[in-house]
Amino acid sequence: MKSDPTRRLRQLQKLLPPGELRLDLAARQENAGDKWFASHLPEAVALPRGTASVSRVLRFAEQHRIPVTARGAGYGYVGGCVPVRGGIVLSLARMNRIKEIHAGDFVAVAQAGVILQTLQDAVEKKRLYYPPDPASRADCSVGGTVATNAGGPRCLKYGVTRDYVLGLQVVMADGAIVSLGGRTHKNKTGFDLTRLLTGSEGLLGVVTEVTLKLIPLPPFRALLVVGFDSMKAAARAIREIFHHGFLPCALEVADKFTLDAVRRRTGSRRLRHSRALIMVELDGQEKSVRGEMRTLEKLARGWHPVFVERAYGNARCEELWELRREFSFALRDTGLIKLNQDIVVPRSRLEDLFQFTARLQKRFDLPIACFGHAGDGNIHVNVMYDKNWPGIQARTRATLDELFRQILAWDGVITGEHGIGLAKKRWWPLAASRQLRALHQRIKQSLDPKRILNPGKFV
Ligand SMILES: Cc1cc2nc3c(=O)[nH]c(=O)nc-3n(C[C@H](O)[C@H](O)[C@H](O)COP(=O)(O)OP(=O)(O)OC[C@H]3O[C@@H](n4cnc5c(N)ncnc54)[C@H](O)[C@@H]3O)c2cc1C
Repeated sequence: MKSDPTRRLRQLQKLLPPGELRLDLAARQENAGDKWFASHLPEAVALPRGTASVSRVLRFAEQHRIPVTARGAGYGYVGGCVPVRGGIVLSLARMNRIKEIHAGDFVAVAQAGVILQTLQDAVEKKRLYYPPDPASRADCSVGGTVATNAGGPRCLKYGVTRDYVLGLQVVMADGAIVSLGGRTHKNKTGFDLTRLLTGSEGLLGVVTEVTLKLIPLPPFRALLVVGFDSMKAAARAIREIFHHGFLPCALEVADKFTLDAVRRRTGSRRLRHSRALIMVELDGQEKSVRGEMRTLEKLARGWHPVFVERAYGNARCEELWELRREFSFALRDTGLIKLNQDIVVPRSRLEDLFQFTARLQKRFDLPIACFGHAGDGNIHVNVMYDKNWPGIQARTRATLDELFRQILAWDGVITGEHGIGLAKKRWWPLAASRQLRALHQRIKQSLDPKRILNPGKFV
């Protein structure tokens, strides 16, 4: 920020309604980091109550070349909302009103700061459904999920956030307020700029309002949990599920390290002899789900599993899903630090991936826990370490270098959910060609020529 930042910020304070720009240390500290390791104090925190204030902040910031970093709930995993160049953190937390849930149009309109689960609960009360389900949904904001194009287990069948964004209200770097897309389920008017902004990690504009597509709430669900004696057996089972024509709404996998940690945390007896586990959820009309589940269970018994457990209906399914929700906490309970990666491989490479991570563990003598959305090939590869282990920084870095290089060699990607942010900036040149990076630069240059939006990140 240019000379005498405090004087400038006090000027901005006068342009905003009372309480919408805070300069105190407590507010700055609260908005310095996310759920990754980095943090940096901003000079000010803007807490607008409406789009007009967001526009005022950006117009002023652009004029004075002050960095602005948009912030949803600060639940990102890659340091995306960390204001590495200082300036203003623009928090959307107070813009948390659900404006409309229209059962006839199958559309929801929400301000960017609405917590995702609050929106989903309200939608489901009307027997409608908004499927994208990041594990952080009880805490993260709708705007944050749009800016990161978040996904979750149900995205296998239903698609990720981008597949539900019909329209966005965005404030551009110069303060202009623009409505992109609309509220119809089909729209081919001009370029698809809603998709350009979705997943743009706060680098191209600030999302203030989101119009989302809804679908009918599936009336029934069933879950099958299967334990195996090896990851190889689990990977083969996953292939067979698709081969037999099933499209589950979720298909999750966990490896032995994860299961041992969950067993220690929960005392679960069913996990005692399993070295791998899959969870397969089906949804739809009750009669067809029950029929499909019977066929699936029969198939599963042929895999010589360690155990098979089945659940019908919401309450029982949720009970079993509790196990999945424990994965992250159980890994934390090990006392080790977890470097959570969210790589994606083409589906046919799942078995190769598990073999490769097993070799990496041995080579660098670091535990690696794998679990995640096997149906999408999107696996959380967690490199675990203790900061007192000798040469640990070099070892974790070399492990990640090798992991990402191999993933890319398989035509996979280094992030399927969390984004690049700061955490993956080192590997951005490896993951994107020179031409692709140049194209990103040109888009950034045309939408944010003074480079005030979330500076210091990957573009
Ligand atoms: C325990 C845990 C589990 C998680 N599980 C998943 C998961 O299953 N799937 C998944 O996809 N992610 C997951 N995440 C990552 C994270 O929750 C998501 O990326 C989420 O979308 C972040 O939302 P947020 O509101 O916290 O955004 P923030 O962390 O505040 O911001 C994230 C990025 O979006 C930008 N941004 C935020 N709001 C706006 C806005 N209104 N306009 C423009 N840019 C904006 C920020 O600048 C930043 O770059 C998980 C994180 C945690 C901590």
